Amino acid sequence: MALAQIGVTGLAVMGRNLARNFARNGFTVAVHNRSAEKMRSLIAEHGDEGDFIGSESLEDFVASLQVPRTVVVMVQAGGPTDAVIDQLTTLLEPGDIIVDAGNALYTDTMRREKDLAAKGLHFVGSGVSGGEEGALLGPSIMPGGPAESYVTLGPILEKIAAKAEDGTPCCVHIGPDGAGHFVKMVHNGIEYADMQLIGEAYDLLRTGLDLNPAEIAEIFAEWNQGDLESFLIEITAEVLRQTDARTGKALVDVIKDEAGQKGTGRWTVKSALDLGVPVTGIAEATFARAISSQVKQREAARGVLTASTGDFHINNREGFIEDVRLALYASKVVAYAQGFDQIRAASEEFGWDITLGDMAKIWRAGCIIRARFLDRITQAFERDADLPTLLVDPYFADEIAEGVGAWRRVVAQSALTGVPAPAFASSLAYYDSLRAERLPAALIQGQRDFFGAHTYKRVDVDGTFHTLWSGDR
Ligand code: NAP
Repeated sequence: MALAQIGVTGLAVMGRNLARNFARNGFTVAVHNRSAEKMRSLIAEHGDEGDFIGSESLEDFVASLQVPRTVVVMVQAGGPTDAVIDQLTTLLEPGDIIVDAGNALYTDTMRREKDLAAKGLHFVGSGVSGGEEGALLGPSIMPGGPAESYVTLGPILEKIAAKAEDGTPCCVHIGPDGAGHFVKMVHNGIEYADMQLIGEAYDLLRTGLDLNPAEIAEIFAEWNQGDLESFLIEITAEVLRQTDARTGKALVDVIKDEAGQKGTGRWTVKSALDLGVPVTGIAEATFARAISSQVKQREAARGVLTASTGDFHINNREGFIEDVRLALYASKVVAYAQGFDQIRAASEEFGWDITLGDMAKIWRAGCIIRARFLDRITQAFERDADLPTLLVDPYFADEIAEGVGAWRRVVAQSALTGVPAPAFASSLAYYDSLRAERLPAALIQGQRDFFGAHTYKRVDVDGTFHTLWSGDR
């Protein structure tokens, strides 16, 4: 019997589709799942799509693989991933490759890579984005781990990855140990920000112009023809168009307004705090989901907290829609700029040597944040690989300059009408903070020196200074 070129263990929605993708691309795929039924049903339903070798035991699964063996683990993140890796470790040999394609926390990946490297195994923590459909039709793949492993793994992953319009595979070796999972985490953080910004745009249009969801769907569909063209804008229009079969109402109006989260937004923000990188857009988006789920507090506040907004009219309907579009675009640039800053900071901290321009390239297709905009980011890093921030790239700086008035009007409208737009507002504040000649941080340094003798630096003389404040105690 021919041996398999690659194996997948963990055949829930993601692993099943990834295995089918390998098979459809001509690879012989060994497949295994803890409960054998998922393996059997995969072969029964999709066995005709390519060459599968199904195994009921992990021992048989490993034995069905070509040496050096390449095993993709696609199980629940955390403990289950450790359990599967531990079992595999006893069966694999030095030189074999384990790919964890789940959503692992990058520090777990760093730990696992260290442990497995000591045993002579190559461990590759790989981000895979695009959900169920991406896994089947071509995801964006972000593999980390030893560069050596990419020699074997790279061509296989590049074959099944999504392809950008210019034909480039959306897969690149990101960097050593946890780099792949780190980049996937930030990708998800950006996804949180993008979704929140779209949500705020919807809310402002709905309240400000008294439009119904189907009417707003048309606006999003139109926006999807221009600079904002992206998977998330496209599906937003679809979601808003959907009617609930049970009530006949817009489906969005019968869905509870309590956003869930699985944790990658939270991880991104925690890591940003540790690295000292202000990812305000991602943080606001993560907190906005948390606020939405604070059911008790919201219920209590609704009856007590007043809006005091007064009458609010928008006279120029088209003008307001265009303002919201421009505010959305500018805030989105900020979210990406911040995400890229975080990747750069981690790359420096952990010695990953990540090429930022490559990240934009591999997010152009296959993943949830895929967008026309990513081409622009790719070009920005091609112009200058060491951009201090995406916001100063001449293209983006000009685009934002054109929209900044609109952005300010939208944030002001949000405050005047009492429609919360935390991600719009904090993105604008970030933009203004970056461009400010002087920040009130000087005052904060004075306060710190006053109460804690923390010292400060001066603008005119080098060195560290402490003042004997009149209130010094
Ligand atoms: P999942 O629901 O996260 O996990 C279910 C799979 O894990 C099943 O195959 C299950 O086996 C296996 N499993 C759980 N505990 C196990 C254990 N102790 N030992 C062995 N196997 C165990 O599956 P998923 O949604 O397909 O996601 C897989 C991974 O991809 C996750 O890390 C997820 O975060 C990541 N991911 C998911 C998406 C998505 O859109 N769903 C997108 C990107 C990444 P049994 O069938 O035997 O229970």
